Amino acid sequence: MKNHQIHFGLNRGLSTRQPGSSFKPLATIGPGLENKVINASTLFYDTPTSFGNYKPHNDNNSYGGITSIRNAIVHSYNVTEVKLLSIMGLQKSQEFLAKVGIDVDANEAGLSLALGSKSVTPVQMAAGFAMIANKGVYITPTFYTKVEDQDGNTVIEAKQEKTRVMSEENAYIETSILQGPISAQGTAPTFVGYLGNMDVAGKTGTSDAAVDRWFCGFTPYYAAACWYGADDGYNYDGNGDRMSFWGTNPAASIWFPVMKSIQTRLNLETKKFEKPSSIVILKICRVTGKKATDNCKDTYSEIFTKDNEPANCDGHQTLTICKESNKIATEFCKETEEKSFGTVIDTEKNANWSPAQKIEDIPIETCDIHTQAEEIDVPNVVGKDEAIATTLLKNEGFTVKVLKDNDKTKAKGVVLKQSSTKAPKGSEITITVNQYSGPISSENTTGETTTSNTTNTNSTTTNPTTNSTPSTPENTVVS
Ligand SMILES: [Zn+2]
Ligand SMILES: [Zn+2]
Repeated sequence: MKNHQIHFGLNRGLSTRQPGSSFKPLATIGPGLENKVINASTLFYDTPTSFGNYKPHNDNNSYGGITSIRNAIVHSYNVTEVKLLSIMGLQKSQEFLAKVGIDVDANEAGLSLALGSKSVTPVQMAAGFAMIANKGVYITPTFYTKVEDQDGNTVIEAKQEKTRVMSEENAYIETSILQGPISAQGTAPTFVGYLGNMDVAGKTGTSDAAVDRWFCGFTPYYAAACWYGADDGYNYDGNGDRMSFWGTNPAASIWFPVMKSIQTRLNLETKKFEKPSSIVILKICRVTGKKATDNCKDTYSEIFTKDNEPANCDGHQTLTICKESNKIATEFCKETEEKSFGTVIDTEKNANWSPAQKIEDIPIETCDIHTQAEEIDVPNVVGKDEAIATTLLKNEGFTVKVLKDNDKTKAKGVVLKQSSTKAPKGSEITITVNQYSGPISSENTTGETTTSNTTNTNSTTTNPTTNSTPSTPENTVVS
């Protein structure tokens, strides 16, 4: 259409330009939802990736890691969309685009189609976004409704064909996703609240070297697409030099005031996008992007169509990790933490790109620093009552085994000896407890018995008056 010879000059509405990321809603998200390749919670691994020779990169080289499709649109991550197109297949994108009046040879365009490498007109973009706003129905654009003669006879009437491209539910979900860019974290943060409480959805677009800047979007009333750039942006000086427009999106800086002006002049009542009653809301596990189960700790709510709900979360291992070695903790590690690890996310299984998300990201080795228990002091319980001794030892993490013996110089129930004074934490300590219950020998009063953990053996019968029975230790395991 670009032709300086025609009488009315250049028609920018019908000039083709590269739409950049503003193409994603039509080339990847729309067909992805409609073909059930994704839902709003589908996770992607957004990281520098090679698709054969094609190596798309994100703006500012900022990558999202494991990210939902909704979050990927907020930040306009590119790798996520290329992966989506790769999984879905170029043909599905081409078919969807054809339904909104954009003819592309997807095979010729290749995976860069996801990022708007194919040139389109602002009118095509406005009509495509209007389809989403019209609850999934595409209406062929016209520039008049009808022409009548002086007698009121219709001379020509615009033929507007309507085609359903998306289900009402999917159009609503895509609308909801497209509200993300106009948020504090989004790519058009400047315009949050610009239209008051009127709902607004849209997507920014920037072609290579910021030659073309776009904002395409809609409110519950109107859809519009705005392109900003130079007519000869790719060769402004005739030497092939490009003219770049960096900074705050200049197309959005036009789009929002125009929309606000329409809103004010027509006195439009504030409206929200209408949610179809058939939309379901589910609790989603952030680790897998699937329906949360009782095992999922980190969850959020997301909207779905009934026929495209995610499966139940198929689990993510929760492992105890040693903070020192960052490996799986042994029973001997001192400082540990509970960590959740996803299994490889669904979209990375059978990946035909590299690198794919690896299972190695989940630790499989056990801590090699803390392989055995550290020896600690065992409380001295000799002379203490059995119950007190057992409690003291257990408090330090030991298990206790009790043997019985007879020592007529000690009171019944007193610990006569213990097996060690230093032992690995958690190990078993044997204590020998006096079971003698007769009169206590006078020797007891002559001293040196209080700490005697060596006087345990068959206390020599110094007192013939007592019926000293040779001790026969019996194993009485307490715990
Ligand atoms: Zn989960
Ligand atoms: Zn450790």
